[in-house]
Amino acid sequence: MTRLAQTEGLTDIQREILSTVRDFVDKEIIPVATELEHRDEYPTKIVEGLKELGVFGLMIPEEYGGLGESLLSYALTVEEIARGWMSVSGIINTHFIVAYMLKQHGTQEQKDYFLPKMAAGEIRGAFSMSEPALGSDVSAISSKGVREGDEYVLNGQKMWLTNGGTSTLVAVLCRTDEGHPEGTAPHKSMTTFLVEKEAGFGEVRPGLTIPGKIDKMGYKGVDTTELIMDGLRIPADRVLGGETGRGFYHMMDGVEVGRVNVAARGCGVAQRAFELGVSYAQQRHTFGKPIAQHQAIQFKLAEMATKVEAAHAMMVNAARKKDSGQRNDLEAGMAKYLASEYCKEVVEDAFRIHGGYGFSKEYEIERLYREAPMLLIGEGTAEIQKMIIGRRLLEEYRIQG
Ligand SMILES: Cc1cc2nc3c(=O)[nH]c(=O)nc-3n(C[C@H](O)[C@H](O)[C@H](O)COP(=O)(O)OP(=O)(O)OC[C@H]3O[C@@H](n4cnc5c(N)ncnc54)[C@H](O)[C@@H]3O)c2cc1C
Repeated sequence: MTRLAQTEGLTDIQREILSTVRDFVDKEIIPVATELEHRDEYPTKIVEGLKELGVFGLMIPEEYGGLGESLLSYALTVEEIARGWMSVSGIINTHFIVAYMLKQHGTQEQKDYFLPKMAAGEIRGAFSMSEPALGSDVSAISSKGVREGDEYVLNGQKMWLTNGGTSTLVAVLCRTDEGHPEGTAPHKSMTTFLVEKEAGFGEVRPGLTIPGKIDKMGYKGVDTTELIMDGLRIPADRVLGGETGRGFYHMMDGVEVGRVNVAARGCGVAQRAFELGVSYAQQRHTFGKPIAQHQAIQFKLAEMATKVEAAHAMMVNAARKKDSGQRNDLEAGMAKYLASEYCKEVVEDAFRIHGGYGFSKEYEIERLYREAPMLLIGEGTAEIQKMIIGRRLLEEYRIQG
């Protein structure tokens, strides 16, 4: 099952990491994923195993105790993990985004304090932009931070925090109008706060409540929550980068690498769907032969495999572009858009190949069918990706005169 989604030009270390992770996925994740997902149970043992493998610190620089690997290594690791169970990649994703934001934008004190603990998986990150009234339109957020002496007082309600309950550090985006004259563009008066808290639900810190898990159609096991700030006091040195008004930029930078990550998840889920489809098609007989021998089913498999290859190539391209120090918003947007759409299509084809059994909870494809739609929404919907892609294309292809 390794013919598809190969990556040329990897280093020995990258190959070793990926082979270790694939082994872990085959032995520790795939055999238990569907059962845990049906019970909506947090995969504690899997998370402990990933901590031991160093996955939580994969991209954190070595000086802070991480492995100092590239975005490509990270994305390929996520692809492998999502092949096993998408929820597990979700547990790592927000942690990775917060660690990336700290690495890129944190003060030296913030990096020294947070990154070593994040590399070890002792501190686990979540990030929070969305609110009940908005997701795509981030510039419209209403949660607010007001300075009082050496602290900020935060008020507002946040929505859809992946790892909201299990995390102990949340990067929260709030409006802070101080120091910004009236009429400042909305995205220039936002600030990222580094909010430490206890793991769990209820009042996890004075002024901060995580009400409970949102009941979802898929992407179970990983907790997704609201977050309510009611007079939450945060020391001024927990403003990311030590400067207000930079929050929108911080979050967009984080989401950009997050998009490569979501593309990688789409690739992993699609690969698994293909594996399930191609295997079932050779076992199920109709009209005297395996269904794989009917041309209509072979065509389906051909289309599925082509989509798996195309999505993988675009995801790798987007990761390599970022690793080379170049702007990759166009490539990340395209990769996220294509990989999530293709993932949904490949999963649906694998589901159809399973006939009635695809509808049974006994078959893994049933879980994948409920998981794939999340990728169409998270880190920006298809429409938002197309807006980003379209704008960038018009910049690149602007006609003169
Ligand atoms: C399981 C899950 C986990 C999540 N985890 C996180 C997280 O950890 N942190 C976080 O901050 N957020 C998180 N989110 C929120 C997610 O980022 C948003 O749901 C997403 O950005 C879409 O926002 P929305 O749901 O408010 O939809 P809306 O923005 O209300 O959009 C509704 C529809 O309108 C379309 N639309 C909106 N604007 C336009 C436009 N200008 N042109 C054309 N079409 C448009 C959208 O594409 C969509 O189809 C999560 C969401 C889910 C479901």
